[in-house]
Amino acid sequence: MKKKPTVGKLKKKLWKHFSLYIRTRDKYTCFTCGKVAHGSGMHSGHYIPKSVGGVALYFHEKNVHAQCYHCNINLSGNSDIYLQNLVKRYGEEIIDEIRLLRQEINKWSLQDYTDKIEYYEEKLKALT
Ligand SMILES: [Zn+2]
Repeated sequence: MKKKPTVGKLKKKLWKHFSLYIRTRDKYTCFTCGKVAHGSGMHSGHYIPKSVGGVALYFHEKNVHAQCYHCNINLSGNSDIYLQNLVKRYGEEIIDEIRLLRQEINKWSLQDYTDKIEYYEEKLKALT
């Protein structure tokens, strides 16, 4: 019998698929400085950090964008410019949208993670 995967493992797996989708969507161009990089030089950076946001923001397409190592790590997400560019791309409503998502306390089931993994596998295929 196959062992049941844990939430931690599925979360990791989903992040792999999700973040690859994000970087591909953004054409490996840093959201906050415009630099293009591949490999370990290009991350998927959160506006609301993973530690604060909860799972809905962790895997939210508007909260995560391709971001270079420098902006993501050295500048801790470069959040002032990040916010400016969020508003530019999605309009002022993005501020409320993120605020609401921040208040959401959500827990995903194993099935939720499995569904999302499939969803992003398909979404990535559609892009490439
Ligand atoms: Zn950058």
